[in-house]
Amino acid sequence: MTILIENTRTGRKEVFEPRNDPVRMYVCGMTPKDLPHLGHAFMFIHMDVIRRYLEYSGYSVHHVQNFTDIDDKIIDRAIKADRDPMDWSQEHTEAYFKVMDRLKVLRAHEFPRVTESIPAIIQDVQQLIRSGHAYVTSTGVYFDAGSFPTYGELSGRTSDDGLAGARVAVDEEKKDVRDWALWKVDSTGPIGWESPWGRGRPGWHIECSTMIQETLGSHIDIHGGGIDLVFPHHENEIAQAEAATQETPFVSYWTHTGLILTDGEKMAHSSGNFTTVTDVLSKVAPDVLRLYLLSVHYRSPLHFSALALQQTKTGYERLLGVLRTRGQDESPDNNALSKSGLEIRKTFESSMNDDFNTPRAIGAIYEFGRTINRLAPTSSVTNVTEAKNIFIELLEVLGITLYEPETNSSNIEPYINMLVAVRQQLREANKWDLADQIRDDLADLGVIIEDTADGTDWRLT
Ligand SMILES: [Zn+2]
Ligand SMILES: [Zn+2]
Repeated sequence: MTILIENTRTGRKEVFEPRNDPVRMYVCGMTPKDLPHLGHAFMFIHMDVIRRYLEYSGYSVHHVQNFTDIDDKIIDRAIKADRDPMDWSQEHTEAYFKVMDRLKVLRAHEFPRVTESIPAIIQDVQQLIRSGHAYVTSTGVYFDAGSFPTYGELSGRTSDDGLAGARVAVDEEKKDVRDWALWKVDSTGPIGWESPWGRGRPGWHIECSTMIQETLGSHIDIHGGGIDLVFPHHENEIAQAEAATQETPFVSYWTHTGLILTDGEKMAHSSGNFTTVTDVLSKVAPDVLRLYLLSVHYRSPLHFSALALQQTKTGYERLLGVLRTRGQDESPDNNALSKSGLEIRKTFESSMNDDFNTPRAIGAIYEFGRTINRLAPTSSVTNVTEAKNIFIELLEVLGITLYEPETNSSNIEPYINMLVAVRQQLREANKWDLADQIRDDLADLGVIIEDTADGTDWRLT
């Protein structure tokens, strides 16, 4: 069984031959400046499925994902909200875990943070200066792009593009517009660390290089992130890592996820059109959102549509319906269903082996569900149970656990009413966190709470 992965650096699908066991996988994580939005969910769920599928295929994976837990934007947001930047960052880091746990994104084995990596970052910057790849100015330390001959290979940008794209005023002391800060001197800002070049903060790009080196070493098998990170973030990571260690390529396979577009525009904080994951999860169950986001290939853009999300909900209910099928006690074993089970596994695997083609894999699972429904009346109980087990197992590889919501509402009504009343008391006592927790947990169980002008309503999804 061969897995093909499209590698951004070469632009080709390549046979996956990891050099390390366990497979070393690094994913560029959140800058916890505000709540996770759909773009984050798309990226982290697809990376999660890549990891899950490699594990299904017999690899063990060591997954590392960082938090850029301090940067200019975090400081700006915190100051605007009259809050301490580190508290702000910590709060949004917790929000990441809360949301991604609900979406069943497996936790990475390690979560390095910038604020815990400062001494190692300073050492790496010193090493780049010593080896002639970086230089000191009055504003900080810069990487010398001209010292790295293959600069631009990942993104395909030449130095001319770099010039044309530079909209900021050229820093007089910089040798080349492409050069970027490894250390930014900032003697008065609210957050800073002492360094040989003065008090300040590291640049974003060197942070990831150092955290990779510290946790995984000088070579990794898979590096993931959003397509918007290719340039300059990942281009610069390559230059820093390969200049420092001479290990080329430092990443075997670059996997980049597409953007989420609303009305053709990138969903981003800067354009103010982002939808938080928590918002979406007040309308659909986590598994429905997963199914929706996985119905697009990870490298493709996703054109977000509320209608398509609702249609996925119907699709998910059809999947649940398959679980309710039963075979006939008197039926003899029906080979057609067993054969179909073997075929679906093959189709699922060949789809996933082809650069993790989740839309095709999901299509095959739907098709198998229809086959089970059709053949169940003429199949034995054993046949149907075996088929359903394969059906459930393959959905689990995608992180989707079929969960049958309780439909007999009369049994649960008093309990929900009680939780709604407790939540109301918490709100009156300004304990918003706990109140929101109850709302989110109920949403996971298929109970949607709606606050209206005259009290709180609830309904089952
Ligand atoms: Zn990064
Ligand atoms: Zn964001």
